[in-house]
Amino acid sequence: MVVQTERDDATWYECETCGLLFDEKSDATEHEKHCDGSDPSYIQ
Ligand SMILES: [Zn+2]
Repeated sequence: MVVQTERDDATWYECETCGLLFDEKSDATEHEKHCDGSDPSYIQ
């Protein structure tokens, strides 16, 4: 699930599964489709 969050006076979209932040909701949604929350390649 993608959640909207405020940070540094900006709106971000967070992948609730792995915690990654995106500035575009479409990017977050696209990521979330194939995020299983356990793939270390997503963690930077
Ligand atoms: Zn994710």
